[in-house]
Amino acid sequence: MKDENCIFCKIANGMIPSRTLYEDENFRVILDLNPVTRGHALIVSKEHFRNLYEIDDNTASRALVLARDMAVKMTEKFGCDGFNVIQNNNEVAGQTVIHFHIHLIPRYKNDGQTLTMKPCGMTSEELDQVKESFD
Ligand code: 5GP
Ligand code: ZN
Repeated sequence: MKDENCIFCKIANGMIPSRTLYEDENFRVILDLNPVTRGHALIVSKEHFRNLYEIDDNTASRALVLARDMAVKMTEKFGCDGFNVIQNNNEVAGQTVIHFHIHLIPRYKNDGQTLTMKPCGMTSEELDQVKESFD
């Protein structure tokens, strides 16, 4: 399943050239065009899924294995000191390209990036309510 209007379908399937670090039957791993650190890459599925909500079992089970393997190899090759794996779903969560992908972000001491999470400040009662709303 491909979407002919989707740029990541075209990149993943080799119709548009990319700086490819790795490729197999399910994924292409490319350097991000606007990296946030040196070596910032994207795991892009060859099938078109809008995001995590929609990926099939095969893609889901292989994606994290590949993320681990890439993190190990990229750490070795790029000499980074740590690693962020980030995956955005829907516009409100920062997804700008509506085709499933995972960010692989090498981190270096003093790289100037933050990528930190800001606590939203919930009381213990509010946490209880959140828990109950999931039951
Ligand atoms: P999102 O915000 O959807 O999680 O991430 C989309 C990422 O794709 C961004 O980091 C952006 O820089 C990257 N990107 C957008 N268009 C292209 C492209 O044509 N080629 C490559 N290599 N990366 C792209
Ligand atoms: Zn697509």
